[in-house]
Amino acid sequence: MSKLSSLEIVREADRAGTAVGAFNVILLEHAEAIIAGAQIAQLPVILQISQNAVTYHGALEPISLATLACATAATVPTSVHLDHAEDTELIRRALDLGYDSIMYDGSKLDFAENVKTSKEMAALAHSYGATIEVELGEIGGKDGVHAPGIRTKPADAKSFVAETGVDLLAVAVGSSHAMTSRDAQLDFDLIAEIHRAVPIPLVLHGSSGVNDPDLQSAVRAGMRKINIATHLNHIFTDAVRATLASNEKLVDPRKYISSARAEVTSEITRLLKLLNLE
Ligand SMILES: [Zn+2]
Repeated sequence: MSKLSSLEIVREADRAGTAVGAFNVILLEHAEAIIAGAQIAQLPVILQISQNAVTYHGALEPISLATLACATAATVPTSVHLDHAEDTELIRRALDLGYDSIMYDGSKLDFAENVKTSKEMAALAHSYGATIEVELGEIGGKDGVHAPGIRTKPADAKSFVAETGVDLLAVAVGSSHAMTSRDAQLDFDLIAEIHRAVPIPLVLHGSSGVNDPDLQSAVRAGMRKINIATHLNHIFTDAVRATLASNEKLVDPRKYISSARAEVTSEITRLLKLLNLE
């Protein structure tokens, strides 16, 4: 068994001053690629399934059970995490199913409401021995709404963590979700300031929009879990497009998805080493 809670994996990185890559699973092939890439790098990894991906599949169980099976068979430490859940009932069902980590996203709520529900979800997750991540300051970019101007205030982060008892904190420091270019401008001073202000590891969302040197600078400033989704979708889809364009007679999905899976695998290996400051 190589499954751990994401907090155990992230704490290990925190001790080393590095970060863990957290990558989104949409299709079964993503789970396979993420684990294969981590095994080549010989580094721990977090597999994430978002509430949006669950909605896409129309059910929680099939994609989750497949991902949990892949994670359990891995030879490196892995964790399966529910990403951006706003539905508290979905969080409960994911914990029942065996997820060892959940993110409750109350970032659209006002501060007091976000504190109240995050605290309830923290108690629920902890009753399962699972990790809870929350978000303070809406990072934006989902559903086409880019809001890179929003910033989390260090003092708010400090009181939010103290009041809720959560394990991991996602903060708004200049990145934005769903970016297809890697030119986000991160506020490294703010990352360092929040890192000093709160006693728990920080999470960077919208990391697809951040270039390689800036990802490493974010880790050096105190980021400990780096979420990457869109960047991998870009690589996957480019590979599918290239294979289909080169052979119009292809009909077997295995023929064009396998090359995309292999491309994602190598990028996972590369990114995990990068975040490990290798
Ligand atoms: Zn996110």
